[in-house]
Amino acid sequence: MTLSVVVDRIEVWQAVSRLLEEVVPSHLYHAWIEPLRVVEINQDGLKIQVEVVAPNDFTAQWVRDHYQKQIHTAFQQILGECQLSFSIANPGSEEIVEKVIETKVADVVPPQEERRSSSVHKPSSDQPDSRYHFENFVVGGSNQFAHASAFAVAEHPGKQYNPLFLFSPPGLGKTHLLHAIGNRLLQKNTQARVAYLSAEKFVNELIDSLQHRRMSQFRAKYRDSFDMILIDDIQFIAGKNTSEEEFFHTFNALHGSKRQIVMTSDRPPKEIQGLAERVRTRFEWGLVADISPPEIETRIAILKTKAETDDIYLPDDVAAYIASCIKSNVRELEGVLIRLQAQASLTGSEISLEMTKQELKSAALSLEAPHFTAEAIQNAVIKYYRIKLQDLKSATRARSVAHPRQIAMYLIRKYTGKGFKEIGSYFGGKDHTTVLYACNKIDSSLEKDKIIRTDIEAIQSLL
Ligand code: ADP
Ligand code: MG
Repeated sequence: MTLSVVVDRIEVWQAVSRLLEEVVPSHLYHAWIEPLRVVEINQDGLKIQVEVVAPNDFTAQWVRDHYQKQIHTAFQQILGECQLSFSIANPGSEEIVEKVIETKVADVVPPQEERRSSSVHKPSSDQPDSRYHFENFVVGGSNQFAHASAFAVAEHPGKQYNPLFLFSPPGLGKTHLLHAIGNRLLQKNTQARVAYLSAEKFVNELIDSLQHRRMSQFRAKYRDSFDMILIDDIQFIAGKNTSEEEFFHTFNALHGSKRQIVMTSDRPPKEIQGLAERVRTRFEWGLVADISPPEIETRIAILKTKAETDDIYLPDDVAAYIASCIKSNVRELEGVLIRLQAQASLTGSEISLEMTKQELKSAALSLEAPHFTAEAIQNAVIKYYRIKLQDLKSATRARSVAHPRQIAMYLIRKYTGKGFKEIGSYFGGKDHTTVLYACNKIDSSLEKDKIIRTDIEAIQSLL
């Protein structure tokens, strides 16, 4: 009897996981479904109760949040009507495993001294980008305060302004200032241990560490081994409970020992939706500084600085013309300059006002014309929300994916005018009612939800 049950549950799980493999994108399947096991299948009269076990709390929670419905459906296909519950394998085992790993950390992580010198000579992705300095950051009224705050922090890390929180819409120099702080500190003190990372990297590394039971290394890295942490696009952690929690403790450890934290975000702490209150208040503990779109003089100065650095001949009238056309994004400003230079060197001529007008006209035309394809819109959306295309097209209803999916559907409708049914086909064959619902929902949220409006503007600027 016991034996047949054992054989059964293994077979059932094999069948169920085969079904799931078809509906869950493969990297997600390997990450979340594969580690699961069925520990019990109980039959009480007509009721079947299935208990699925996850290796740790984090996986259990993730699976519950994201895949409960698919897993349940798959079990029902195999077993018929049944109930599903999740449990954790051997709670507490994680800590034990972490301790074992801890004793081996010395084997994998170079000792402190080695790490210090390697961080200076061999920049890794954790190191500030050497292109971005205070010297090549053009200061104007729109960014004066952010610049001064950043500079003060680089000069006196961990003192007055901890944390420093910089925010602005995309393309206005947050990342540039963030790296400039790190570079300045490293210039003054080559031994300083500076970490630059995106919040996305923090989240991914955390997930990876949880899965591979390397949490003590993760914690040792972020809580103990840097003098300054520069973390870009912190809004990315909002609503990701485990990441917020872990960041909260990282923050406390750094702040408590007077080590500097600098964060950037596309909006002020108050407007980051879904962020835990205790995390939000910490973001506001130090100094919050915003950057607004640069004035025309600053835009011209940025163009000229950029031209000078890249050795591009840029006549004054051209600089003024570009700056008068492109107002809200420095990245775009630079983009035009780069395209003009490419064109000039291709045709063997110099950048002229005529050429510039043509270039800007064709850029504007390409914005209006059928360039707004469903694919281009999907790509802009996944880029903006930093999710994968296959997730966008999947059935998952997790908000982190479902919301971007609705935005993408809305934008495709808006720009291509395609029918709801056809739009559904771009998302793995979603029903036309789903598309209709998404379009109406986003349309009506646009009026009242400032965040959706900013998001959509930012996505359009990526198109
Ligand atoms: P954000 O992080 O706010 O999206 P970035 O820091 O990536 O923006 O800036 C986009 C581009 O514009 C970068 O190449 C950056 O060097 C440049 N940039 C932005 N502001 C300035 C400025 N005030 N002076 C010089 N370059 C700037
Ligand atoms: Mg940035």
